[in-house]
Amino acid sequence: MIKYALICSDCDSEFEAWFASSDAYDKQAERSLVECIHCHGTNVGKAIMAPAVSGTKKSSPPDPQKVFGKLAAKARQHVSENFDYVGDGFATEARAMHYGETEHKPIWGETTADEREALKEEGVPAEPLPPAFVPAKPRDEDKLN
Ligand SMILES: [Zn+2]
Repeated sequence: MIKYALICSDCDSEFEAWFASSDAYDKQAERSLVECIHCHGTNVGKAIMAPAVSGTKKSSPPDPQKVFGKLAAKARQHVSENFDYVGDGFATEARAMHYGETEHKPIWGETTADEREALKEEGVPAEPLPPAFVPAKPRDEDKLN
């Protein structure tokens, strides 16, 4: 279904009408079947439309909050699926990996401010996750496995 704004040149009025398609409108107009709802005249044509400024949702910029929310949700999912949660053991784990004592693997967890400073001084790479990117902590029973 398509809605057209129509103009009647007999009584100079504007009205709107629904058609099955633009083809259906064209066929009815050709055979003068499009009637003015006011004077029932058939000198009816499509109103020339200017692009509407409001209501064109497709072209309006995406809401940054929503875009960020989606990205954050993806980031959280990525972290929770690909990173091992090591809880308070983050500094120990990160240090062990840095010095080659354990295999490198993606981990996430907590440190104290002191630990974070110490890691930084030792040159152990560790970046704080933006809070929005932090996934829900695994439940304790998950951590045991
Ligand atoms: Zn009319």
